[in-house]
Amino acid sequence: MATVGTTVRQAWAMVRGLGVTLRYLVRPPVTVPYPDVKRAAVQPRFKGRHWLTLYEDGLERCVGCELCVIVCPSQAIYVRAAENTPEHQVSRGERYAADFQINELRCIFCGFCEEACPTGAIVLGRDYELAGSSREELIYTKEMLTEPYPGASGRDPRREV
Ligand code: SF4
Ligand code: SF4
Repeated sequence: MATVGTTVRQAWAMVRGLGVTLRYLVRPPVTVPYPDVKRAAVQPRFKGRHWLTLYEDGLERCVGCELCVIVCPSQAIYVRAAENTPEHQVSRGERYAADFQINELRCIFCGFCEEACPTGAIVLGRDYELAGSSREELIYTKEMLTEPYPGASGRDPRREV
C-alpha cells in the first residue's frame, strides 16, 4: 500500500510531466517536414555524394591510377583503366578511367578516396539525398559520377592539388 509521501511524489511527477507537454504544445515544432523542406545547409566538412571532376577544358581529372581503390576501406570503388591516345585523349595523364563505379551502399563516406587522389579527381560533395529502391540504382556508374560540366560539383575546375 502506497504511503502518503509516495502518492504525493507520484502526483507531483504527473503534474511536472503534464507541464512539459503543455509547454511544447505552444512552442513551434523543431522537426522539418522533409522532403518538402530541405535542410538549410550542411556542415562545412560534410561528405556526401561523390563526383568525378573535370578540368576547365573538359578533360577528366581521373588518370585511372586506382589509388582510391587501394585506400578504400569498404572496397566500394571499381576502376578499369585504359591508355590515352592522340586520337582519344580523355585525361591529362597516360591513362584514364574507362570504367569507374562506386557502390554507395558500401561507402562509409570516410573521404579517404578524396585524400588519396593525386589529381583531385574524386570529391565528396554536399548532396545527402542518396536513397534508392534497388541495389543497382546505388551502384553509381562513371556516367552518373562525372560532372556534367566543369565545376558542376561545386569545386573550382581550375584548382591545383
Ligand atoms: S568515402 Fe571512403 S568508403 Fe566511400 S568510396 Fe571513398 S574511401 Fe571508400
Ligand atoms: S579518382 Fe583519383 S585516385 Fe581514383 S583512379 Fe582516378 S586519379 Fe586515381
